[in-house]
Amino acid sequence: MTMPLEPLWDKICQTLKARLNADIYARWIAVIHPKALHGDTLWLTVSNDFYQSWLEENYLPLIKETAGQICGHKVQVQFEVNPALSVAPLPAAAEVTPARRSAPWRKAAASGTGHDIILNPKYTFASFVVGPSNSFAHASSLAVAQAPGKAYNPLFIYGGVGLGKTHLMQAIGHYVATQARSRICYLSCESLMNEFIDALQNHRTKHFRDKYRSMELLLIDDIHFLAKTDALQEEFFHTFNALYDAHKQIVITSDRPAGEISGLEQRLVSRFEWGLVTELIPPDFETCMAILHSKQATLNVPLPEEVLVFMASNIRSNIRKLEGALTRLTSYAALYQKPITVNLAQELLASNLEQERGGIVTMDTIQRTVADYFDMRLADMTSKHRSQGVALPRQVAMYLARTLTDHSLPEIGLAFSKTHATVLYACRHIEKSVQKKPQLKQIVTKLSRQLECNPAGLPI
Ligand code: ADP
Ligand code: MG
Repeated sequence: MTMPLEPLWDKICQTLKARLNADIYARWIAVIHPKALHGDTLWLTVSNDFYQSWLEENYLPLIKETAGQICGHKVQVQFEVNPALSVAPLPAAAEVTPARRSAPWRKAAASGTGHDIILNPKYTFASFVVGPSNSFAHASSLAVAQAPGKAYNPLFIYGGVGLGKTHLMQAIGHYVATQARSRICYLSCESLMNEFIDALQNHRTKHFRDKYRSMELLLIDDIHFLAKTDALQEEFFHTFNALYDAHKQIVITSDRPAGEISGLEQRLVSRFEWGLVTELIPPDFETCMAILHSKQATLNVPLPEEVLVFMASNIRSNIRKLEGALTRLTSYAALYQKPITVNLAQELLASNLEQERGGIVTMDTIQRTVADYFDMRLADMTSKHRSQGVALPRQVAMYLARTLTDHSLPEIGLAFSKTHATVLYACRHIEKSVQKKPQLKQIVTKLSRQLECNPAGLPI
């Protein structure tokens, strides 16, 4: 017996709501309209092609599986587009994902245009410590800030996690905002994508286009997340051209050179390379010391010089981690009223130091990190549950164990209570799926980077 359409869809939505994070649910599921249920086929409607292809690529198996569970038999799901559908506008991207960052954010003073930009007040040129690893990127950023649209256009800053890309980009934003009443826009690539989707959904692409093409300074952070969606790349390409032709400044950051961003159209790659490309590399000892001194000046608990030397000698791959280590030691000192010695620092930072030495990611950390990310129980990593909501994250975790550790298939199997054949299947499946599903690829890349940067899964 099959349920009537409306109650069935309500139940599917309730289940998906519980499984997905709120942003994702609001963005991708809440916009679907149930249309009909013919036999075993559930017809769903969305307002444009973009939704259709994204949902088909990313959420179809989950919706099918949920519908199947509720109906007690296999259900086919078909999407169709109905442009006449009106969907309640979603809040702007920044409102959809509040409090994602812990730092105090403020609206920059002088956008003067109604286009507010939200910049971290700490990320200025004044607080950026210059050393050999970043002097070129710093000088280029300053030159761009002093003569937007004239010095180097676009400015493309790339480098590993935690090396100061966002800091420099926002420093440009602050600088320009204090110099002139310019139209400035800083946003992450993810927010740009979300805004574009909202624009498509609400038939406001003209508004989207006009907004970005009227900017005098466009700062797009983490462009490597630009999805393989033709529509957005097309739109971005034209926006880029319009701004470039009008001598408006564009600054882009990425975790890798443009040519290595998978799925990025060649014409965008070549445009990103038109201006100045600059790389941030891990800092040397002296720069780390200078950063520690400068950060320490803002904290109330000074640490002995030899402890700073110890940190700067041992943590260099990522400045965010260096800051994390400093915070950890100073909080410990404040909390326990104990002087920090090199020995104590060594003990308190043991896991950070281990990562720096060899970056040892353990299967336990992988399981915890993946379970956390997908908001599932750690026990499900080793359970026999086969539902997609559990199976996919587990396969992702097995794949990460295979790619980030030296463990053999049987060893991984043991850690997940599975056979080595299951692990092999999971790895192949994820390898194939990431080729086809940009969102999954983004998740796998993000998790793998997170684990590489923080193999011990520390909350820093
Ligand atoms: P990325 O965007 O490259 O991942 P961020 O710009 O977020 O890195 O930098 C990570 C942290 O390190 C931030 O708190 C930032 O202020 C700090 N930081 C990075 N480089 C420097 C520097 N040269 N001087 C001072 N702080 C820095
Ligand atoms: Mg960043």
